[in-house]
Order: sequence, then structure tokens, then C-alpha cells
Amino acid sequence: MYVVLWDTHERFVTKEFGAGFGMGAYHGRGGWRGRMIRRWYTRDRRPVTLPFAYMAAIFRQLGHTVEYAVDDLPANADVYVFHPALGTIDQEIAAMRQLRARHPRAHILVTGVVAYAMPQAFAEANVTVVRGEPEQLLWKLDEVLAAGPGIVNVGSVKDLDALPCPDWSPFAPRNFRMNYDFTRFPTALVQSSRGCAFSCNYCPYILVENKVRFREPAAVLEEIQYGRQVHGFRSFKFRDPLFGANRRRLPELIEHLGRLDRKVQFSIETRIDLMPRETLAALRDVGLTSITVGIETPAEDTLRNYRRRPIADDQQAEFIAACRELGIRTAAGFMIGFPEDTPESILAVLRYAKQLNPTYANFNIVTPYPGTEFYTLISGDVGPTGAGGVPWSHYDMYTPVLQYQHLTHEQVHDLHAKCFTSYYTRWPYLFANAHLLWPMLRRLGLGPKRQTASPTPAPAADAPPARRAA
Ligand code: SF4
Repeated sequence: MYVVLWDTHERFVTKEFGAGFGMGAYHGRGGWRGRMIRRWYTRDRRPVTLPFAYMAAIFRQLGHTVEYAVDDLPANADVYVFHPALGTIDQEIAAMRQLRARHPRAHILVTGVVAYAMPQAFAEANVTVVRGEPEQLLWKLDEVLAAGPGIVNVGSVKDLDALPCPDWSPFAPRNFRMNYDFTRFPTALVQSSRGCAFSCNYCPYILVENKVRFREPAAVLEEIQYGRQVHGFRSFKFRDPLFGANRRRLPELIEHLGRLDRKVQFSIETRIDLMPRETLAALRDVGLTSITVGIETPAEDTLRNYRRRPIADDQQAEFIAACRELGIRTAAGFMIGFPEDTPESILAVLRYAKQLNPTYANFNIVTPYPGTEFYTLISGDVGPTGAGGVPWSHYDMYTPVLQYQHLTHEQVHDLHAKCFTSYYTRWPYLFANAHLLWPMLRRLGLGPKRQTASPTPAPAADAPPARRAA
């Protein structure tokens, strides 16, 4: 069969982020400073979403021909696969309808977390919603095709190592760059685990399963080596929502990464309390260049309200400082625009971000994702049919979409722009982070001296109890 994986580059949505709901780019409000920050955000050439690379490998393993189409509808394919983000759902449904009118006999499959959370949104497009992990097509493709239009529940992959290596070849992988994490390119995405066992009630990563599935470290290394040899990848972004959650596998993975004959750069996303300094140092020594963490807000009550386990302020400060000394970039996520937020509570987030001073502070506007507990709690207010009447295309993490108790949308927009522009245009920011943003400064003897690692990597705890400064 001839299979088309359909995608869109409209609206600069990265489908991989937000657990597959997608993430837009900072809109550039705030004068020249805002435009400069938007330029940073849009200079990457981000890899296509990882499930596409898995699906390309799976369809090829099953003997089919795979093509990648962007904002175009190639004729005569047997199967078209759509993997919509929330911010592009209207465009994708329009493309599905067009396709159905032109090719009534083609199979149109819709995959991904948006399809999982809101399958009814695709009912009128006369398509097959594959509800569950799309990699299940390796075992269930015939069943899905035989089912025809409607919803087919496929479940999730039991053994992640049973999947083939993601196949990046249809997607022009030599162009992939993620500048905020790396200095060497091209960049690939990789996973050593899926899911998370925490229960933050706004989090889309726990929608399909609220537990963690792991891969064997040796299999992960094999995939990295394959990507390096076949596509020339020089950097790898781990897409585990909670990297290092398993105390047995992490030292093993570090050991494997250390055995690579040519070091690769890699980045991870995790919780601060899983990364003691010795683990950071051990990871840095085998190629870690950047860590993404969620700090969200300094307001402990707000975190507890949304069932996020707080981490002590001093532990967060020590973590950012340790990364800075070790030469690891930090990309810290902050959340503003909770329903009960005020100008003061948002400016407190900005002040806290400045105090911590990570390499990148990403101020996200609270976005309720269908299927999450948070969405259910406020569902009367959100979405195109909610009280606010906000279209899905605004669900990009940079646009206010909620009904706020004390603020208008315009105020949240302005405060959000203030957070970005005020954070990045400060001398203390540049002094603390210049050696990380431009690593050649270190070679010129500027910035802190490179710290040496501890000889033995310390294992991270599975899920250490969080503590909070008194
Ligand atoms: S710790 Fe992170 S990945 Fe896990 S539930 Fe909370 S927000 Fe989601």
C-alpha cells in the first residue's frame, strides 16, 4: 500500500510538545524585545513528531511505501494518516473532508492524543480514529483498516523495545535543529521511557496511562548509534516526560552513553528532585547539554490545588546553580494565567524566575487539555462551545483561553509579554548565562571554570518525597 503521513507547518505548532497536543511559539508582543524573543523561538527547525518516525518504520516493516506530505494532499494513496495537534485541528479536519470528497475509497486514519481525548471531533469527517498509541498499528493495522470509519480502540504498546527504530528518512532529518538545547546538529528525538506516575491534574502526559514504561538502555543506545550512522545525528532530545525515574536503569544508560566512541549531545526533561548534583555531573560527562524542568509557580498553594507535588525553593535554586556550574543549560517552565491569578501573582512568578535565572524561562499560559482532570473541572468555560468561545487554534500555550476571576484576556496577554521581555533583557541574565548560550566563551577563558564529575554516578531515587523550604 501507499501511505501518506500528513502534516502542516501552519501556525508554527510543534506537535511533539504538550504530550502531543502541540505547542505554538511566543507571539512576539512587547515591541522589539518581544520580536527578538519570537525570533529565538522560530529559528529552530524542529524534528517531526516522534510517532510519525515510528509509524514510518512500522509501515515500511509491514511492506508499505511511505511518503510525508506537508500542507498538500497527494493523490492516489491507499492510506492517509493525520496526527493533529489541538492548535491545527480545524485545518486538519478541513483537509480530511477535502480528501474524503476527492478519494472516497481511501482509508483516512487519525492518530495521537487529540484523537484519543476528543474522538467525537472527527465524527463528521468520516474517518477512522485510532484511539490509543499509534505504534499499535504494527500489530493492529489490518483490524483498523477493516473497521472503516468510526472509533477503534487499540490500547498502548506493552513492550516498547518490540518497536522498530524510528525511521526519519521521509522527513529530511539533516535539517533538524534545536538550538536551545544543542550546539551540534542535526537533532533527533528518542525515548527511554513513556508516561509518568505523578498526578498533576493539568498534565496531558498521564492521559493514556498514569504509569511509566521503560526501554532497555542497550536498545536505546542501539537506536542512538543507528541514528548517528544512518542520518548523521549529532544531538538527541530525550522525550521521556520524567527522565531518570528508574534507579536501576539510569546508571546503566549513563554507562552505555559513556561507551560511545564519539560523544553525542543530548537533552532530557525531568523533575528537579530526581537529579542530585552527582547524577547531573555524570550525565554531563557523557554528553548532557540541557535539561527541561517544570517549576511552574512559587505559590505552593497553587501547586497543591492542581495536584502538583512542590519542590523546595532552595532545592530548585541549588539545581539551577549546579547546572550552571557544570555547563548544562536549563529550560525552566513557568505557568501563568491560572483562573484565580492576579497581576501580583503573575509578577511573583516573574520575580521568582529572575531569582533562579535559568538559561531559558518559558512562560506558558495555563492551557486546559481535553481529557485532563483540570479540563473536566472547568469544562463549561473552555473550548469553542464554552462560555469563552475560544477556538482550538488558540490552544498554543501562549494565548489566554480561560475565563479569569480577576483578569481579562488582554491583561493576561500583556502580563505574559512582560514576563518574557523583562526576563530576557537584563544584565544579570546575560552575566549568569552567557557561557551557556555561547559555549565558545568558556574556551576563551570566560565564565565559570568547568567542574569535574564525581567518579561514580549516583542513582536517582524513584520518586523521592518532595520537601519545601520552611
Ligand atoms: S511530573 Fe510532569 S509529566 Fe508527571 S504528571 Fe506532573 S507535569 Fe506531568
